[in-house]
Amino acid sequence: LFRSVGIDRTNSMGINLANDDDLRTLAAAIAAETAQWQAAPLVPGATTAAAWADVTDPADRRRVVGRWQAADAATVERALANAVAAQPAWNATPAASRAAILEHAADVMEQQMPKFIAMCTREAGKTVVDGVAEVREAVDFLRYYAGEARRQFGAQALPGPTGESNVLQLEGRGVFVCISPWNFPLAIFCGQVAAALAAGNSVIAKPAEQTNLVAHAAVKLLHEAGIPETVLQLLPGDGASVGAALTSDPRVAGVAFTGSTATARAINRALAARDASIGVLIAETGGQNALIADSSSLPEQVVKDAIGSAFTSAGQRCSAARVLFVQDDIADKVVDMLAGAMAELVVGDPGQLSTDVGPVIDADALGLLEDHAGEMAGCRLVAQAALPDEAAHGTFFAPRAWEIDSIGRLERENFGPALHVVRWKASELDQVVDAINATGFGLTLGIHSRIDETVERIVSRAKVGNIYVNRNQIGAVVGVQPFGGQGLSGTGPKAGGPHYLPRFATEKTVTINT
Ligand code: NAD
Repeated sequence: LFRSVGIDRTNSMGINLANDDDLRTLAAAIAAETAQWQAAPLVPGATTAAAWADVTDPADRRRVVGRWQAADAATVERALANAVAAQPAWNATPAASRAAILEHAADVMEQQMPKFIAMCTREAGKTVVDGVAEVREAVDFLRYYAGEARRQFGAQALPGPTGESNVLQLEGRGVFVCISPWNFPLAIFCGQVAAALAAGNSVIAKPAEQTNLVAHAAVKLLHEAGIPETVLQLLPGDGASVGAALTSDPRVAGVAFTGSTATARAINRALAARDASIGVLIAETGGQNALIADSSSLPEQVVKDAIGSAFTSAGQRCSAARVLFVQDDIADKVVDMLAGAMAELVVGDPGQLSTDVGPVIDADALGLLEDHAGEMAGCRLVAQAALPDEAAHGTFFAPRAWEIDSIGRLERENFGPALHVVRWKASELDQVVDAINATGFGLTLGIHSRIDETVERIVSRAKVGNIYVNRNQIGAVVGVQPFGGQGLSGTGPKAGGPHYLPRFATEKTVTINT
């Protein structure tokens, strides 16, 4: 398909889970009880050593899968000094050479897929299917931004008066800090880092506190592929200490951030408060995503896509559906079928292929979801999936759906397997879209309708970044469905799209009187 439309690129194929050999290799990687992964700062010249902390499996907190070490203040300082010193040479390296290293890294990561999937499963609680998608997306980002660097970073000759030549060129901004969340611990981590590197920046990567192990493995792989160790450094640590120290430092030219809206605001303030050049912020944040189904839609398909959109990855996707708006004519049928389908969800060990819903990331996340369930006490519980006995050893939240009267009742993004159903009447379509817009978030929107005019009316009124019609609303594909939101959901540009890379660069126009 790509070649037929003139694009010389394919997305990663992943692993064929129907192939017995591939499956055995993967199962062995996931089952390795002895896996003792490690993460520590990767900062040349840093000498201080902090204490180690254990990393436990979200599906069974008794199982220690690795240990990690946070960066201290001296290590942060060293990383900044290294990054400043290393950037000019990296920026002067031809874009095609930078791209070649990233492409090599993508090939190596693809070969090591079982290891990375196992890390996503054991450190982040990802199901095997999610793990495959995660590594594929990371590989795609590496290749996509490499390709975009080749395409966009050549000097572009501009027309001008006779006797002058004019050239426009893109260059790295300087030191870029990449701050990533735990819910896509490899894909988003690699996406941010690959873009910043491809554009000619030196990079300091600060992964989420919960997922340092997989980030450390990715940085090691990138170093082995040829990225110099001072050009890409890893700083594990708390957001409030290490993250905040980086974003308030005047040597940092830009920040690529994915995480909560509240943290994006804090970073924006920190960048603005510095007595330095104005730092650029690329922020991809949360959502309050809706799926609108009208009476022309197919109830079976609505239920299948609502379940997939709300409960895949235990609902821990920024794109996940949180509110299903269903037109009253078909609402009883949809709600009945939803309850039946949710009763079939298999919740449990994400390392088992039969598992649909794994654990949530940690006790804090679980506590917030349990608080939300308490807040929903007065609402009709449509369904609650069953938890297996072993779930008591992990951080599991039983997938739930409630009927509520309005999306405005939800005060925050509930980041887990929690779905809400709102009924609407034919005359209320515009009010439904306005209520969704009024949340201020604008990330994904699902539409189920067989009426073109209805689809067009919703599309033109909705203030969201990604709209999916008659399908699920998760799993944007790099280079195919550029991803990112509006309003409280982010600044743009869209990840995996053609406008992303230039935001990591400055533009230089050179005019020569010949
Ligand atoms: P979070 O904001 O708590 O943390 C994200 C990162 O920011 C972590 O690395 C954290 O250490 C760091 N951080 C925290 N405080 C900081 C500070 N003051 N200064 C600098 N860095 C700081 O988010 P999370 O809980 O890890 O991730 C879940 C959130 O991410 C959800 O809101 C989800 O919707 C969002 N998300 C958005 C997208 C998207 O593409 N729009 C993708 C994935 C996740």
